[in-house]
Amino acid sequence: MAGVYISWPFCAQKCTYCNFASGVFPRDLEQQYLDALTREIRSTIWGWRPETVYLGGGTPASMEPEVLSRVLELVPGAPWVEATIEAAPGAISREQVQAWVRLGLNRVSLGVQSFVETELRRTGRKHTARHVAEDVAMLRSEGISEINIDLIAGLPGQTARGWESSLDHVESLDPPHVSVYMLEVDEDSRLGKELLLGGVRYGAMDVPGEQQIVECYEQAVERLAQMGLARYEISNFARPGSESTHNLKYWKLLPYLGFGADAHSFDGRLRWQNVESPAEYAKAGDPRLEPVEAILAEERFFVGLRLMEGVHPTTSEWAEHRAVIEQFVADGLLEADGATLRLTPRGILLSNEVFEEFIHA
Ligand code: SF4
Repeated sequence: MAGVYISWPFCAQKCTYCNFASGVFPRDLEQQYLDALTREIRSTIWGWRPETVYLGGGTPASMEPEVLSRVLELVPGAPWVEATIEAAPGAISREQVQAWVRLGLNRVSLGVQSFVETELRRTGRKHTARHVAEDVAMLRSEGISEINIDLIAGLPGQTARGWESSLDHVESLDPPHVSVYMLEVDEDSRLGKELLLGGVRYGAMDVPGEQQIVECYEQAVERLAQMGLARYEISNFARPGSESTHNLKYWKLLPYLGFGADAHSFDGRLRWQNVESPAEYAKAGDPRLEPVEAILAEERFFVGLRLMEGVHPTTSEWAEHRAVIEQFVADGLLEADGATLRLTPRGILLSNEVFEEFIHA
């Protein structure tokens, strides 16, 4: 069963750490983009019914309900098993949430990142912990219980105490799903450029060191487990049954179709992506860039190993990667039980090094 991803790259502000093709754009681009988006979805020949829909970007929650309705009515398969919308805390109304429920959305991912105001202000985010609590209560009262909270470990100025406080807030809100990302500063982000220049804006001088970020992540793993949220993917934690069905498709190499600027697609054999810039996408006749053949033999390892359940290599894959696997098992980064191969807790922290070996094996 395949999924559908729809990108809405418009945001109220450009967060300092963000390297997505999203941001603040002229108002008239929104209409042109919407026209291109509906054109792209309408031109699809659906020989299948999507199981999941994921509205990301960007800030798709900023779409007016009638705009969202125009887009979603073009996607077959409603009511979908899972339909997620990403939202910025403090910027959603009850009327909007009611419209989401009517349109078949049943999961909301809140881009919280932190509950500490000094950390949030440096990222450009405007919400407070109170906004998050109000949003969670409103979503629940309107019937949306599948709520994800995104957190970032390693924001400029983040301290052990601040991180602890963010985890305390998570505990009090008791969401069924939390994502914890370890900040990797991208040199194309505003924060990355500032760091390269040796400047101080956006708290660039206060970006925590790698060791502190790892400690924050490990603390989150422990606290979230105590809250009943098991790590099922390197950055994702859920109560049993609340794992993201849509995102699991990426890690299990199941097909998905992406619409909008910079959206990616995979049909089980080919991968392709759309032009990155929203302005170019709005103008493009066909936004798709050249498809490339997926190298599934490699991807099965470096994508599949992100899942805590691990991968189940075939006999020939065991044989092909024997040397790499044995070395990582000896180093304590992988564990193998004959049928399954998975990262150890230490391997999770060094996962990029493990994945790289499988790409070059
Ligand atoms: S982090 Fe999210 S809200 Fe901030 S600019 Fe990037 S896409 Fe927009």
